[in-house]
Amino acid sequence: MKFELDKAQKDIQKAAKRFAKGEFDKELALELETTHTYPMDIWRKACEEGFIGLHFPDQYGGSDFGQLENVLVLEQFCQRDSGIGAAMLTAPFACEIILHHGTDEQKEKYLNQVTSGEAISAGAFTEPAHGSDITSMATTAVKDGDEWLINGVKTFITNAGICGFYVLLVQTDAEAGHKGQSMFIVDADAPGIDVASVGEKMGLKMIPTGEVSFKDVRVPASSLLGVENKGFYQVLQFFDESRLGVAAQALGTAQGAFDRAVEYVKGREQFGQKIGKFQALQHKIAEMATQLELARLITYKAAWLADNKKPDAKLSAMAKYYAGKIASEVASESMQLLGGYGYITEFEVERFYRDARITEIYEGTREIQKNIIAGHVLGRF
Ligand SMILES: Cc1cc2nc3c(=O)[nH]c(=O)nc-3n(C[C@H](O)[C@H](O)[C@H](O)COP(=O)(O)OP(=O)(O)OC[C@H]3O[C@@H](n4cnc5c(N)ncnc54)[C@H](O)[C@@H]3O)c2cc1C
Repeated sequence: MKFELDKAQKDIQKAAKRFAKGEFDKELALELETTHTYPMDIWRKACEEGFIGLHFPDQYGGSDFGQLENVLVLEQFCQRDSGIGAAMLTAPFACEIILHHGTDEQKEKYLNQVTSGEAISAGAFTEPAHGSDITSMATTAVKDGDEWLINGVKTFITNAGICGFYVLLVQTDAEAGHKGQSMFIVDADAPGIDVASVGEKMGLKMIPTGEVSFKDVRVPASSLLGVENKGFYQVLQFFDESRLGVAAQALGTAQGAFDRAVEYVKGREQFGQKIGKFQALQHKIAEMATQLELARLITYKAAWLADNKKPDAKLSAMAKYYAGKIASEVASESMQLLGGYGYITEFEVERFYRDARITEIYEGTREIQKNIIAGHVLGRF
């Protein structure tokens, strides 16, 4: 058993760190947050440098690397800035479904758009009445000659309004529940699509999240993604993979908050000494350092298994669950270590804390991850 990254992986990690240090500026991040502006220029530069979709094949603008390399990049990005890092994570969201199930034409068109900086993607699964439970969808696609007619509402859609296309889960057989679901790729400028706000968010303020309505949206038969009525299974497979990205986001965000707290306690003095000398605070640091190490191990292992043709849904859920949980805890404790300054925006940690929280909610809540893990442990009985 080797617990070491190879040279290429270390180089990617260093390159991602260098890129984030050069591009993810604290003042810029605060401005983007305040103005609710997506970091478009940074995303395009990240595309130029090959960081977006680096686990895609070369012919689609990737670098033929694996999930582990993708995790290393996202971790570095989120460590430097929890908001900009998350924006880079979401830019190619749901594209793995196209990679695994798309036709050659779909891959050629959409994956290249995302890796070249031409279009951001969005994955639209959640509906107002169907969140954790996606076994039945109210959004429908009905065949009309050579075309499909899509109607319904998707909510909480990351990148709504700024994306080039939506990867959509809909009901194609109303009677068949999850066995009657299919996926489509729908261009965002298709007539009949409308985007509304879901309201002000706690974190991820530079990334739009919207409610997307589809009213008689007409798409050609070639928009079907994968196999008709197998959409549910395609999405489940996708989540096993995409959860690794969220685990990396959580890990990087936690590490970023922790680093800032460690720096702070070494400098701040109270009662005539550096606060880092107080054993009570040292124990907090020890606890957090251990949590980070565990989250990193499980996330890297889950990614490594996926890259070695042994994808493990249980481990992937464990990585997302654990990294998300400790991200909230570590960011909260880091804020505590900064005292009153932890509550002030300029010190960044409060933003890491706000951004960390989503990793326990999207792409399957903490509770849903536990359901998946328990289901694997217990099996049928
Ligand atoms: C900022 C943000 C971005 C998002 N981006 C996207 C996106 O891009 N695309 C997309 O499709 N969705 C997106 N989502 C939606 C997200 O995936 C859902 O919010 C999430 O899956 C939970 O669904 P829900 O909000 O309907 O909560 P519900 O499913 O109603 O859950 C409410 C509570 O009940 C619990 N619960 C539900 N079922 C069970 C169960 N069986 N066992 C135990 N507990 C259970 C949940 O864990 C939760 O605590 C985003 C959400 C947010 C907030």
